[in-house]
Parts: sequence; C-alpha cells; structure tokens
Amino acid sequence: MPELPEVESVRRQLEPALVGRRFERVRIDDARLVRPHDPVEVAAELEGERVAAVERRGKYLVVRFESGRVLLIHLRMTGSVLRLPVGSLPGDPHRRAVVTLDDGSDVGYRDVRRFGTWLLLEPGEADPYLAARVGDEPLDRLFTASRLGEGLARRRTSLKAALLDQRTVAGLGNIYADEALWRARLNPLRPAAGLDRAELRRLHRGIRAALEHGLARQGSTLRDYRLPDGTGGTMQDEFRVYGRRDEPCDRCGTPIARTRVAGRTTWFCTTCQPEEPAQAARRSSRRPSRSRLQSSL
Ligand SMILES: [Zn+2]
Repeated sequence: MPELPEVESVRRQLEPALVGRRFERVRIDDARLVRPHDPVEVAAELEGERVAAVERRGKYLVVRFESGRVLLIHLRMTGSVLRLPVGSLPGDPHRRAVVTLDDGSDVGYRDVRRFGTWLLLEPGEADPYLAARVGDEPLDRLFTASRLGEGLARRRTSLKAALLDQRTVAGLGNIYADEALWRARLNPLRPAAGLDRAELRRLHRGIRAALEHGLARQGSTLRDYRLPDGTGGTMQDEFRVYGRRDEPCDRCGTPIARTRVAGRTTWFCTTCQPEEPAQAARRSSRRPSRSRLQSSL
C-alpha cells in the first residue's frame, strides 16, 4: 500500500501538471470509487473546477480547487494516478476514472483491487475531515520527539499498532513502521505507552530517516505502485527489514525474523530489537500460570 513517501512522490509529479488547470471533462467508470455518491453526479460536479493546489495529508492526496472545494484521493492498496499522453488513451481494464484537463492532456486513475476512494468535499469541510483522521505530519518541523511521546502515551496497544494508527502519526504503513522501528532499535511488540525519552528520540529520528530515505528513492515499487509518469520508485531495493526474512541484519548479521503484530506481517531483528526485560518476564510468568491452571483442571 502506498505510504507517505509514495503518496508524496505522486504529489510532486502531479502538482505541476494540475495546478492552474481546469477539469474540462471527467469520467468515473467505477461506482466504488465515489460511493455512496453517484459517479455521474460527482463527475458533473468536478467538471469546470480549476485546481489551486495539490497537497498531501498523511496518505491522502488533497486536490484544492479555486472554488474552495477539495477532492480527497486515497490510493489504498493499488491505486495510481497516471498522466496520459495527449490525444491517445491506451486501453486499460483497470482504469476507473479519467480527467481531461483544459490543456488537452488526460489524467487517468487506475486501481486493480478497487479499494481507492475519491471524496469531493464542499468548502470548509476538508480540514475538519482530515483533522479527525490524520495526526501529525512526521516530516513537519512541529513534529518533535515529545509530540510523538504524547501521541503514543494515549495508545493502549503495541508500538507497531500505534504507529500504524494514522492518528498517532500520519502516513506510516506496514513498510515504514517496520523500517523506523529497526532504525530505532525498538521491538514492535513493546507497549506504545512505555518509552523513555532516549527511546522516543531514537524513534522520532528513525521515523524521519526511514521516510526521508523512501522519499529520496521516490517510494517503493511493490504491487501496482506507479508514479504519474509511469515509472516507479526504487526503495524496495534498500529495505533494512521489510520483506527480508532470514536475510542478515545490516547492523549485526542476525537473520531477520518475521512475525505478526496487530494482524500485519512484521519484520524485525531479534538482536537489535530485543524484547524489554519486563516484556520477557511477563511472557515467562504467564506460561507456568497457564500450565498450573491446566493441571488443576
Ligand atoms: Zn540486528
């Protein structure tokens, strides 16, 4: 699934193509993209809108129109936005929408798994909508280690689950959460609320470093991720842990382990990211108590 570095890479290519342009014709071929709204009605509403800005919040692309309306695009699993050559619209069974701009060029939206969404919001609606769903931007100057600590302190989950929660920090998904935890040398199963100041500083640095590395490679090309110009990113060649089960850890050589945390496959190094002593103790104290219970039954 595209995460912050992927969505931001898409945004950077779309911005110069869209800003100042008018949506001349819009065709939405898949009702799932805009449900519960009617695709024909949404397309008609979009026609005539002129783009003022293309921004990003978390994993959302935020297309702001001069009218004050906002189109929120979420790529979910396999969505991609493609600039199509003027005058030719190559056939594509996975294309769900096409926007023809006033310079004659087309922007296509393709989505194999069809989980992506387009939501058209009226003036004033977008900011509260996003504020309720998306937390601090991790690459923003206002995002500090203590802000991260405040966000984590409210979560009664594992560290990994808390990082995946978009309200804790915006834009992290399964890839960059694992990469950030490896960089911070923190075990993904630790309770989110229990980090000390040094650990918070490491995690803050780890999140930023992992995202900036991804951004510098224009994201990772897994599944159907494509940039608007049809190329892909190269971050997938430089993962430290994600998808690298049994390969040696770049830091210590221990084979990377794979487990499941918060329902998601999770990769980590058992040496660099050990369980904290309390966590290990809780586990070992649970086992005998369970066996005592079973023997007494
Ligand atoms: Zn290691």
